[in-house]
Amino acid sequence: MLTSSHQINVNGITVDVVRKKIKNLHLAVYPPDGRVRVAVPLRIHDDAVRMAVLTRLSWIKDKQAKFQGQVRQSERDYISGESHYFMGQRYLLDVIAVNTKPRVMIKNHTTLEMHVLPTMTREEKEKLLYAWYRTSLKNILPAMIEKWEGIIGESVKSWGIKRMKTRWGTCNPTARRIWLNLELAKKPLHCLEYVVVHEIVHLLERTHNDRFKGFMSSFMPPWRHYRAELNALPLAHETWE
Ligand SMILES: [Zn+2]
Repeated sequence: MLTSSHQINVNGITVDVVRKKIKNLHLAVYPPDGRVRVAVPLRIHDDAVRMAVLTRLSWIKDKQAKFQGQVRQSERDYISGESHYFMGQRYLLDVIAVNTKPRVMIKNHTTLEMHVLPTMTREEKEKLLYAWYRTSLKNILPAMIEKWEGIIGESVKSWGIKRMKTRWGTCNPTARRIWLNLELAKKPLHCLEYVVVHEIVHLLERTHNDRFKGFMSSFMPPWRHYRAELNALPLAHETWE
């Protein structure tokens, strides 16, 4: 497909303009920083793009403000009373200073209790919580991956979990290796499952073309809803398709 992209500035907002063979102009604002992207049909000139951006300026600014609010929300102090997410549910953090081994546990379905040493810094507490997120994912994922390998009929050679800034997951079809974003521990289980299915489907089809979407729709019919949910939830760091 013939595409070209460049940037224009509209009222101080940098806009990525992507020209491709499509019928309608499509404007979107992406997390985490509110990047504005306009996909336009080949024959539409920048003046028309500028107009389209101007007419939706307040909508764009609302969106950008919302994303900036989310980024702020992701900067935590790891103190009692803060909200933290696990598997799509919000928990209140209860930080208790102890002199025993630091650990994290769920209490009464509503509280995330953290036992920390009195000397622990913010960074050390964050590390403790993320280690717990990682362990939780490692407990869930083997069975989930195995289930979908069976349904899709492709096998994953290796998989891992890491913090990624721009992707919920990645797949290297040649190595048959998938990576899943540690941040997924905060999301509802079906969002995690959607990313697992998406990455395994890449073993059948590398790109996000119609064939790929067809596989997704046959294996997981509501996948578009899950994707939208994933990109709309608090702490979504980057859009993902
Ligand atoms: Zn993909």
